Amino acid sequence: MALTWQEARITAAAPETPRVRRLTLAVGWSRPFRAGQHVDVRLTAPDGYQAQRSYSIASAPTRPESIDLLIERLDDGEVSGFFSDVAEPGDAIELRGPIGGAFVWDPGEGEPLLLVGGGSGVVPLLSMLRHRAEGAPDVPALLLYSARTSDEVIAREELMRRDAEEPGFRLMLTLTRAPGGRRIDADTIGEALAALGSPAHTFVCGANSFVSAMSDLLVDAGVPAKSIRTERFGG
Ligand SMILES: Cc1cc2nc3c(=O)[nH]c(=O)nc-3n(C[C@H](O)[C@H](O)[C@H](O)COP(=O)(O)OP(=O)(O)OC[C@H]3O[C@@H](n4cnc5c(N)ncnc54)[C@H](O)[C@@H]3O)c2cc1C
Repeated sequence: MALTWQEARITAAAPETPRVRRLTLAVGWSRPFRAGQHVDVRLTAPDGYQAQRSYSIASAPTRPESIDLLIERLDDGEVSGFFSDVAEPGDAIELRGPIGGAFVWDPGEGEPLLLVGGGSGVVPLLSMLRHRAEGAPDVPALLLYSARTSDEVIAREELMRRDAEEPGFRLMLTLTRAPGGRRIDADTIGEALAALGSPAHTFVCGANSFVSAMSDLLVDAGVPAKSIRTERFGG
């Protein structure tokens, strides 16, 4: 079934980090969405010029009529700039979705689950984690998350609380621009695999270079390529 553009209304907006804004949208779907999927949004200027971008859904599918997007402001970013500075609750935007057939996780698919996110690439992984907590809390899961600084960790309090309270969940955070900062490397991947065991499914999301580097490290560490699913945000 072809996806059609529909009107969605912004019902709330709040800063998530200094560079990321959380927008809540009221959406009328033609079908349910799955954790990991994204939507396309389209902006139209008064002169008819249009810009279209994709944004992952951060919220869990159990609340389908109200979704959260987490949009990072990029320098000179055309669409992210609009959502960071201009869009306000009450505004209507054009949206179509849900989109994405491969980068989705459903409880019951097999365990354990390894999630690897860089920057805003953590967004679809958050939907998976929230879905897991509500529907399959026994599935062992580990999130390996690379952010620039502690302030830029998306959903930091939630992730730290889950790490402390959910027995089957572990957060491994690496900060690249903090004092003593580092990138995820072969040692970090090895530590994650030792803590989790051999993952049945691995999801990797972030900028192109991040996804390529992580995929190589995972395969080098013995994770079967066919069990790794990737989503590239560009950049
Ligand atoms: C499936 C999918 C899901 C996505 N989900 C999210 C999401 O949940 N949150 C989110 O913030 N973004 C997400 N993105 C990225 C988003 O679609 C846009 O590419 C991003 O917001 C930049 O658009 P812009 O119009 O602001 O920038 P543009 O005006 O298109 O570009 C501005 C500058 O930024 C560079 N650039 C473009 N994209 C990136 C990038 N991803 N990283 C680094 N530099 C970049 C460009 O080369 C250019 O120099 C997703 C992308 C895809 C394909």
